[in-house]
Amino acid sequence: SHEKFDAIVVGAGPSGNAAALTMAKAGLKVLQIERGEYPGSKNVQGAILYADALEKLIPDFRDDAPLERHIIEQRMWVLDDNSFVGSHYRSDDYNKPPYNRYTIIRAQFDKWFSSKVREAGALVICETTVEELLMDGDRCVGVRCDRIGGEVHADVVVLADGVNSLLARKAGFHGEIQARNVALAVKEILFMPEEVIQQRFNVKEEEGVVIEMVGTVTEGMVGTGFLYTNKDSLTIGVGCLLSDFKGNEKRTTPYALLDKLKKHPSIAPMLEGGEMKEYAAHLIPEGGLRAVPQLYGNGWLIVGDSAGFVNAVHREGSNLAMTSGRLAGETVAAAKAAGKAMNAATLAAYKAALDASFVMKDLKKYKHLPEVLERSPHFFDTYPALVNRAAKTYFTVDGVDKSTKQREILGSFKAARRVTGLFGDAFKLWRAMR
Ligand code: FAD
Repeated sequence: SHEKFDAIVVGAGPSGNAAALTMAKAGLKVLQIERGEYPGSKNVQGAILYADALEKLIPDFRDDAPLERHIIEQRMWVLDDNSFVGSHYRSDDYNKPPYNRYTIIRAQFDKWFSSKVREAGALVICETTVEELLMDGDRCVGVRCDRIGGEVHADVVVLADGVNSLLARKAGFHGEIQARNVALAVKEILFMPEEVIQQRFNVKEEEGVVIEMVGTVTEGMVGTGFLYTNKDSLTIGVGCLLSDFKGNEKRTTPYALLDKLKKHPSIAPMLEGGEMKEYAAHLIPEGGLRAVPQLYGNGWLIVGDSAGFVNAVHREGSNLAMTSGRLAGETVAAAKAAGKAMNAATLAAYKAALDASFVMKDLKKYKHLPEVLERSPHFFDTYPALVNRAAKTYFTVDGVDKSTKQREILGSFKAARRVTGLFGDAFKLWRAMR
């Protein structure tokens, strides 16, 4: 094809769909290219959808989006090998529409999202891989694909090709992805009747629960586990920094951790009878601000996971993806309307918009966290074990007086980390989270 487009979007995940939708709605001639059989085909698993970011793109999404359950309860669990200490937050306010968070199955959701992009007028082509960006000096002028006649030209290319963006690296926009900046996560989907989920999680139809977990299951590696309730399935998964898997002396695999998590005595009963349909492994960008590359240049923009936009602390990714995609789309549409060239000077407005949004503000807030966590494995191992041991000591009634129990608990903390270590850890955590 020798057609020229206003914009080409590479990838049809949440960030690419947000960018393509925004530009198509503004009347631009948009081509979106996705390598999967259909948008979401590589994304079979459950996830949390944050309504706010989608509402800004599709205000009435609740009318027909494939949503599983809205979240009414958030649980945070600290695990040791056979117990957990947890906090639960449940509110009836989360049961009043419009709901704030939902579980979704990405394969269905991405497909639906893509249908909106098509309706807005973008040309969406699947089963096509973009192999490289066409460069004219330092200006990106289009893409080369493995199909549709090879080369396609556009005024601007939006890179929404996900974590590990090979295209940006090939073009020299950023360097090799570092193992300490990505988590390797595995997750499974387990099917069971709706009523069973409702009973086990103490919820009604369409109500859902999220469990976020940290603890000895990751064997001291920086990582977390999670469990989401879908309509008639559960998503369970665990992820740790790739650098930790690589450096792990025991050579533990992600699947071994997931297996251990599923067998945990506090978790196994919730999964019982669940029929495993599929599992998937995927990388998550978790380097935070330090891993964010150059975000724009002459004729190109980077959005979503390929820009490293994930808030690992709050388990947010898709909302940063959608927001960055929307802001990129708005930047391009405004430039087009003003008749400006799609050069770095014009596209700098995208970075300014990101800086003013929660995307960069949150990444900046947690900028010290990755380095603090990677140098403090005891947050993922020693402390979870201590906290659980303390709870056991405290709640076991065995004729030992309470003051003695308190001394025992304090003693176990001091023995494990010494007083200086305890204060040091508290300070580091405060610095990283403030
Ligand atoms: P992606 O969704 O990865 O989409 C990229 C698309 O580009 C893919 O469809 C891919 O096929 C396509 N593509 C790649 N290269 C090419 C190419 N060369 N040519 C053509 N197409 C290409 N976020 C949340 O908000 N909530 C959650 O609960 C949550 N849970 C998660 C659990 C796990 C285990 C993982 C791994 C991630 C989770 N995330 C979650 C993060 C979230 O999935 C991502 O942040 C989000 O999908 C990023 O969207 P994206 O569009 O940038 O990238």
